[in-house]
This record gives sequence, structure tokens and C-alpha cells, in this order.
Amino acid sequence: MRVLLLGGTTEASLIGRELATAGIAGVYSYAGRTATPVAQPLRTRVGGFGGVDGLAEYLRHEEITHVIDATHPFAGQISRNAVDACAKTNTPLIAYLREPWVEGPGDKWQRVATLADAAAALPDHPARIFLAIGRQHLAPFAAQPRHFYLLRLVDAPVALPLPDAEIVLARGPFTIEGDLALLRDHRITHIVARNAGGEGAKAKLDAARMLGLPVIMIDRPGLPARRTAQNVGEIMRWLTQSACLGV
Ligand code: NAP
Repeated sequence: MRVLLLGGTTEASLIGRELATAGIAGVYSYAGRTATPVAQPLRTRVGGFGGVDGLAEYLRHEEITHVIDATHPFAGQISRNAVDACAKTNTPLIAYLREPWVEGPGDKWQRVATLADAAAALPDHPARIFLAIGRQHLAPFAAQPRHFYLLRLVDAPVALPLPDAEIVLARGPFTIEGDLALLRDHRITHIVARNAGGEGAKAKLDAARMLGLPVIMIDRPGLPARRTAQNVGEIMRWLTQSACLGV
């Protein structure tokens, strides 16, 4: 068995650790977005494969027997590529899928489909926005320069398309106490978030509820049907069963 683990998330690191502990040969793949990626106990490669064909070629060349897609729920392109490349090469694929967050009592969510819709949903008057969306996705908000934007990023961007913005450099998981202080200290009036799910970035939603702040929540991109699991144990069982069946 030889596993390709498409990573870049906390859960992928957990899966990588399980694979290493179980003595399963695996390659952990990073896209190369952050300057200081978390070290992995598996062989690690960095950078795109070159689309579906590049990924299919990689699977063949590296004699990969199984692919685990543990990328972020909003990393839609690589997940679509994995489905197509695995179909092309007849490689079994499983995706780790975090449960999306669900609006509860006291939440003030406005759900939108895209980043552009989120930018359009901001108020007409100048407001103070916590943009919890990652540095690659700021462009649509450049069209709304009247607001102050707070950004929480892993790496500082080279240039910001937003005239009035402040950057906090931090890596999750985050706490409710910390996020309450962040929102209060910056006098935030609105939050823009993507429905990533999971525990590591949920604190901002709990803090928003406690402060009565509106959240503009961007829904996940649609993805093709594929086998999914919601915890690491399920993925390890699938690998073991596949190995027993000689798949
Ligand atoms: P994306 O839009 O789905 O992917 C764009 C391209 O980046 C892919 O076509 C692929 O290039 C390359 N790529 C993406 N993930 C890769 C991986 N794990 N290994 C090798 N190549 C990869 O992805 P994204 O939203 O830019 O996210 C990039 C990475 O950051 C992912 O690993 C994801 O798990 C992580 N991440 C993303 C977010 C987010 O908000 N999107 C948040 C946290 C972490 P080729 O076509 O050339 O193969």
C-alpha cells in the first residue's frame, strides 16, 4: 500500500500521524501556500501536480494505491482534480469531510453562495469587518473600500488590495476568549466567514453570537460525489479493509 495524502489542514496532520504510526507508506502533499508548513512524519512534497493529467501521472509514476483527500472544504479545485485523476487511474479515493457549521439559536447569519455575494452583502455605511477568509480571497472586497477590515492570516501578504485594513498573524486553533477579545478590541460590527466546519475556527462564531454580531456565511462549493469519512478512524478502517480485499 502506498498512500497519497492531500493535506494542508489540521485533520490531514492527524491522518499523517496515524499513517506513520501504522507504518503505512505515504506521501503528504502540500500546495505550497504557506511559508512555514507544519512538519509531517511522512515523506512530504510541495506544489501543484499540473491539473488532472499531472495528478494522474503522479499517481502512476509513484505507484500510489490509495488517495486520501484531507484538503480544506473550500479547496474545491484539488478535490475535483482528485476525483477525476483517481477515476482515470482507477485509484481508490476517500475524502475527509468536516461537518459544516449550522446556525443555532442566537446566531445572526446571512448565508451567501460566493465571496462576491459576501462583499455585496456588506452594509452601505462604513463598517468594521472581520474578514475571516484567507489572503488569497481578498480581491472581491476591494470593491467595498469604505469599510475597515480586520484580517487574521498565517503569513503576511506582500500587498493588500484593501485601503483600511489591519492584519493579525496567527494560526488556529482559536479560543472563544481570544476571539471575544479580538472582536471587542477592534470594535468589529460584522464577520465574513466561510463555512469550513470543524472546531479550530469555530470560536469566532461563538464569540459573534455572544456579542450579537451579524455573520455573513459563505456556503461550501459543490463537489462531485465521492466516498467520504468524518473521522480519522473511519479512514484508517477503509484503508485496512481495502488492503485486506487487495483493492
Ligand atoms: P484549490 O483552489 O482547490 O487548488 C488550486 C490548485 O492548487 C490545485 O489545482 C492544485 O494545483 C494545487 N493544490 C491544492 N491543494 C494541493 C495539495 N494539497 N497538494 C498539491 N497541490 C495542491 O486549493 P486552495 O483553496 O488554493 O488550497 C490550497 C491548499 O491550502 C490546500 O492544500 C488546502 O487544504 C489548504 N488550505 C486551504 C484553505 C482554503 O481556505 N481554501 C484553508 C486552509 C488550508 P494543480 O492543479 O497544479 O495540481
